[in-house]
Amino acid sequence: MRNAEIVIIGAGISGAVLAERYANVGKKVLIIEKRDHIAGNCYDYIDENGILVSKYGAHLFHTNEESVWEYVNRFSEWYPWEHKVLANVEGSLVPIPVNITTVNALFGTDITTEEQMAQWLEANRLATDKPADGREAALNKVGPVLYEKMFRHYTKKQWDKYPEELDASVLERIPVRANYDDRYFSDTYQALPKGGYTRLFESILDHPNIEVMLNTDFFEIKDQVKGYEKLFYTGPIDRFFDFKHSLTDKLEYRSINFVSETVDTEYFQENSVINYPGQEVDFTRIIEYKHFGNQKSEKTTVVREYTTDEGEPYYPVPNAKNQEIYEKYRDEAATVPDVYFVGRLANYKYFNMDQAFKNALDLFKALGEEVAPTATQ
Ligand code: UDP
Repeated sequence: MRNAEIVIIGAGISGAVLAERYANVGKKVLIIEKRDHIAGNCYDYIDENGILVSKYGAHLFHTNEESVWEYVNRFSEWYPWEHKVLANVEGSLVPIPVNITTVNALFGTDITTEEQMAQWLEANRLATDKPADGREAALNKVGPVLYEKMFRHYTKKQWDKYPEELDASVLERIPVRANYDDRYFSDTYQALPKGGYTRLFESILDHPNIEVMLNTDFFEIKDQVKGYEKLFYTGPIDRFFDFKHSLTDKLEYRSINFVSETVDTEYFQENSVINYPGQEVDFTRIIEYKHFGNQKSEKTTVVREYTTDEGEPYYPVPNAKNQEIYEKYRDEAATVPDVYFVGRLANYKYFNMDQAFKNALDLFKALGEEVAPTATQ
């Protein structure tokens, strides 16, 4: 193994950004990645139907952060993509986030203006100043009927917990709209990388100072990894400490079982993502990848997502108990010299992609190794 000044465990967003930043200031960087590919959970590839699919679920980039948008544009061209999601509620396809169309379809109302919709929400929501948990957060936004139809069971399927067992922030990810806006996100920049995320990561990592070791479990070669200035760890924080608190206090993660199917038809469903918030099926949603970027193929690939607690950790589970356990590890992490914990799994935070980019960029800045621009003469 070559000597590197910077060692990074994991080739996902955080790892790739830090690698690029350090390589750019002349440091030798080694990335150690357990999987047989880069790009972390953003990894995508062309499947047997010629369709660009994501191995670990659809990734929709959206940000309000100018600095992040500027950064990602250095490595790929991006095309505008305003993500939309439909929910199959008892057989009707309605927009989610809830908007005027959703309410009219499910309640038979005839709302046409923002004022009427605001009145409807006021009459139906159970207002709380500071929602204490996910249930109060959803009731505060949409009231009990929509909560039951669209959020309660979906959340149970997604997390194996009811919304009252989760932080308010989880349900607060989904806005409610008093207009006809049916975009999932409202950020200024919403786009997908031309050619896909794997290409984007190839471009970020394309630097002579960066070496990537795939198929290598850091914990199996840990003793040989020495002599670095800094090590950035992007895996699950409890794994780093050999799950030492897990006998009494196990940090929870959710994983997803992706069940892919080729369907011999041009389109299977009318939208890229259809959520199934009811109890009639076990999966949470069906993704039809060819919709992203309007790809053409005679057949189509659809993926049903079943969330599980077995398997690779994808989501931290935000609630007070897990936060408490995480903090034990975090306090310990702060005492490990020259090792930095970064990203969704190491920080045990439900980051969006842009937040992962931003945190890695901010960490690099905070460590003070940015080279000042050379003065022009
Ligand atoms: N959610 C729901 N019904 C839906 C979509 C989302 O109840 O149709 C809840 C669920 O608890 C979910 C959370 O809102 O975990 C956040 O949804 P988001 O789409 O942001 O989840 P992600 O895309 O990260 O899986």
